[in-house]
Amino acid sequence: MKYVWASGTDAGRVREHNEDSLFPTTSGNADGPVVLMVADGMGGAVAGEVASRLAVEAAAFDHEDDSIEPIARVASANEAVIEATLADPSLSGMGTTMTLVRLNPDGTADFAHVGDSRAYLLSEGGMRLLTNDHTVINELVELGKITPKEAANHPHRHMLTRVLGIGPISIDTFSIELQPGDRILLCSDGLTTMVADFTIEQILDAGEGVEPSSWALIEQANTAGGVDNTTVVVIDVLP
Ligand code: MN
Repeated sequence: MKYVWASGTDAGRVREHNEDSLFPTTSGNADGPVVLMVADGMGGAVAGEVASRLAVEAAAFDHEDDSIEPIARVASANEAVIEATLADPSLSGMGTTMTLVRLNPDGTADFAHVGDSRAYLLSEGGMRLLTNDHTVINELVELGKITPKEAANHPHRHMLTRVLGIGPISIDTFSIELQPGDRILLCSDGLTTMVADFTIEQILDAGEGVEPSSWALIEQANTAGGVDNTTVVVIDVLP
């Protein structure tokens, strides 16, 4: 299998800083293994930017070494943020999400994630969300306490139940089998809070390449208000 990707990040229309980080920062293609990820930092002053950057640097370490499992990469990211906070108390309280995929030569994809940055799969059957948001509101939805519609506009929808950089962490992992023609999207919540899933699907399914699709997604988030930083990685699966 061959993979072709493009990534993009933008501060948006409201925020001065971009606290998201991503890897790789440039477009490319490879037969795999290839590791790609997005991270959305949080914390006072510059701490959010520091958290997501340190996390991505740690998780991307030796990224062509497929013996390092995605879960180990996300665990390293967690440790890197914790260590930086211990070394500099002014950064205390910083944290970050991370959604990471390793695409393998045999067409399997291994994911690891913490927080509310998402992964979607567009395949012949349409688009589906692969990840589970680690948010208070999503847990209430899963418990049947509130409806998905109520959750979409809930004022506390950004409150995370899991974040890297605070302490020991439970990391979600799963693997899928890809088919040629599939497309994967990794994104921060700046996209998904501004743009409805059906619009994301329309953009991904418009027949454009990975680069124009990436920028169309970011432009759509900004057109809708761009209240948060938006980061996307679009990956095409080729035979
Ligand atoms: Mn965000």
